Formats: sequence, structure tokens, C-alpha cells
Amino acid sequence: MTNTAQNDILLEVKNLKMHFPITKGIVIQRTVGAVKAVDGLNFFIRRGETLGLVGESGCGKSTTGRSILQLYKPTAGQVIFKGEELTKMKRGHLRAMRRQMQIIFQDPYASLNPRMTVGAIIGEPLEIHHLAAGKEKRERVQQLLRQVGLNPYFVNRYPHEFSGGQRQRIGVARALAVNPEFIVCDEPISALDVSIQAQIINLLEELQGEYSLTYLFIAHDLSVVRHISDRVAVMYLGKIVELANRDELYENPQHPYTQALLSAVPIPDPVVEERRQRIILQGDVPSPVNPPKGCNFVTRCPRAMDICHEKEPPFRDMGGDHYTACWLYE
Ligand code: SF4
Repeated sequence: MTNTAQNDILLEVKNLKMHFPITKGIVIQRTVGAVKAVDGLNFFIRRGETLGLVGESGCGKSTTGRSILQLYKPTAGQVIFKGEELTKMKRGHLRAMRRQMQIIFQDPYASLNPRMTVGAIIGEPLEIHHLAAGKEKRERVQQLLRQVGLNPYFVNRYPHEFSGGQRQRIGVARALAVNPEFIVCDEPISALDVSIQAQIINLLEELQGEYSLTYLFIAHDLSVVRHISDRVAVMYLGKIVELANRDELYENPQHPYTQALLSAVPIPDPVVEERRQRIILQGDVPSPVNPPKGCNFVTRCPRAMDICHEKEPPFRDMGGDHYTACWLYE
């Protein structure tokens, strides 16, 4: 699905599936179904770009991020990072690859060990990957604190002594410690005050420029990813329904789900804002245990047709790096 040169691509995901089995029985456990959290994703991320991954909570965004990093063992499909397939990789080799792939979590309150000092939290990955010890490690930790805008003399403080934004900066420093090339930013600003969110986005952008980082930026809010993303993928019930360059997606959304999500985003121009027509989706997101037949979005789509109940729409190339899965365009 690309006219991008192969060596421009840092990460490629092919038919990625992550199904969590549902079991019954206490003594003998039987698998009676599966939660299809991620159900056949195909996309790539170019070196140095930010791919935004957007969708309502429970649509499989975070599972996608974790499956890429092999924190979950995918049920099927391939994750190719720098030309190497990760899903079948031996543990030792995978560990070495992991150094190049880090994650920043949503909740800086929960993701930092409250009993460890900031110095120990940021220094831990340096130890795990045998990158620095002793004085060298201390200096590196202080350098990282400076890079994320924190006072380097805070090394002996504990997470509870910091504000939410500062804690997320610590999470960023920890991810940065091992000089990764790729970072999954898993809703990194959702738990923060609005006033702090822009600071963290700016920090991530500065670091990206300085270290040529590549991001998968996960968010449930389309207005958040607009600023930081080069391209945006929209996810619904375990599948990507639309993927396009940022401006193209916001100005020319094709999939009815993307159109509904965008109709909920306020527009800063009061004249245009007054004319904004909200598309209110009816019903709830169906269970990923039992997704609808045909198009996943059929139960809520205002434009559903007969075929949508029968056959799954293909992920169609609309031209200009714009893809969508919808029978309206077949
Ligand atoms: Fe709606 Fe049909 Fe398109 Fe699915 S394929 S989004 S149900 S029009």
C-alpha cells in the first residue's frame, strides 16, 4: 500500500491481529470465544514521522501499540521493524531490538514506581541494557532531566513530589534514556490538565526534531493529534477505517465514522463554528467479542447500504496516500 521507498519505512505492520481468548471452566479451561481487540491492521510508519492513531476508547489503539512493541504476543500477522520481523524473534534478540522501541504511558501517576527515586526510575533502563553505570549513569540521568526541562538536582526526589506534567516529563526522560528510534506515545497527555498538555506536545516535538524520533501517537481526540501528526489513522472496533495525510484527513474525510468524529471537533473560527453540523452517532460501539457481519461500523453508520451488512469493505487506495474502508467508494 505504498509508493514510499522501502528504506524510508521504519516500521511496517501486516495483517496484525490481537485476539484475547475468553475461557470457561475452573479445572479444565475451554476457550469459548475471543475479544478481537485488533483485527487485521496494515500500515507503515516512515522514519522521522508521527503517525496519529485515533479512535474511541476500547477500539484497540493501545493494544495496537503494545502488540507492536511485543508487550503482547500478537495472535497473527507481522511487525517489521527496520527490516526485521519481531513476532517470531528469539527473546535475546528481541530484547536488543526493544532498546530501540520505547513507550510513554498515559498515566504518569500509575506508570512510575512510587518507591523509586527519579534517578533510579530514569537510570533503570540504562542498567537493564548495560548502557551506563556509576558516575556515567548519574551524569546521563542529569542530562536527561535537563533535556526534558526538569532540574537535574531532582534526582533523589520521589514521583509524588512532582506535578502531573513533571511526572510525564520523567516518563519521557525514561523512554529517551536508551536512545530509541521509535516511541509509542500512548495517550501521553490525556491524564493531564489542558494547560499542561501543550507543553508536553511541544516537548515531544522538540525531542523528535533533535533526535530524529519516529512516533506512533495514540489519542482518542482528533483535535489533539492534528497538531503533532504527519499522517492520521482512524480506528474503529479493531480495524483501521481511514488513513491519510493529516491535512487531507481533516479537510476531506471519506469514511462516515471519520466524518462523525470530525463533526464533534470545535472550530476556532466563530462563523464557521456556528455552521458546524454535528453528526450524532446512534447506539453504542458493538462488543469486540461479536463484531457485526460485513462492515464493522454498519450498526451505527448513517449511510449503511445492503452490501454493508454482508461483506467487509476492502481498505481502498483513494490516491494521494489516502486509504479508506467503505463500500460508498467501490
Ligand atoms: Fe457505512 Fe457501509 Fe461505509 Fe460501512 S461500508 S462505513 S456501513 S457506508
